[in-house]
Amino acid sequence: MSILKVARLGHPVLRAKARPVTPDEIKSPAFQALVDDMFETMAEYSGIGLAGPQVHQGLRVFVAGVRESDTISPMSDDAEMPLVTIVNPEITVVDDARDEAWEGCLSIPDIRGLVQRPVTIKVRALDRHGRRIEIAASGLPARVIQHETDHLDGVLFFDRMKSLETLAFMDEFRRYWSKDDEA
Ligand code: ZN
Repeated sequence: MSILKVARLGHPVLRAKARPVTPDEIKSPAFQALVDDMFETMAEYSGIGLAGPQVHQGLRVFVAGVRESDTISPMSDDAEMPLVTIVNPEITVVDDARDEAWEGCLSIPDIRGLVQRPVTIKVRALDRHGRRIEIAASGLPARVIQHETDHLDGVLFFDRMKSLETLAFMDEFRRYWSKDDEA
């Protein structure tokens, strides 16, 4: 396994639409190695999600999740999310409920912003073995899944902000916006 280089804001790969992964491709050693490397890269940089385009791969795949013991603030106060690999996701918004929460992105280091998104979604996708899965998610997992799926369409969380007024560097976020005074 190895840690991959993460594309940062301004790299065109982050704005390109990624292509679906074929069933044969999913089973290939190269794709399996990519998924392993994405998990390792996400952990190395303390991310909660990482999409193909963020590691220079124009493929519709992302990994997401945290171990229960990990601190995932400031994206959320308390939620936990299992480790998942999602391939070729299709999101359905379940109802009109929306909420706002802080998001960050490994491709936009040290910046946070408030983003409004649907609270509850359903996702149809393939897992890392090519099996069909359907996930119902709400709260933080739903937010992460939407953020990562956006990456597959070249969309960044800035694009989803109703106003850029809450954009903040991490130091200022902690000083002025964080509910708790944790580091
Ligand atoms: Zn991101």
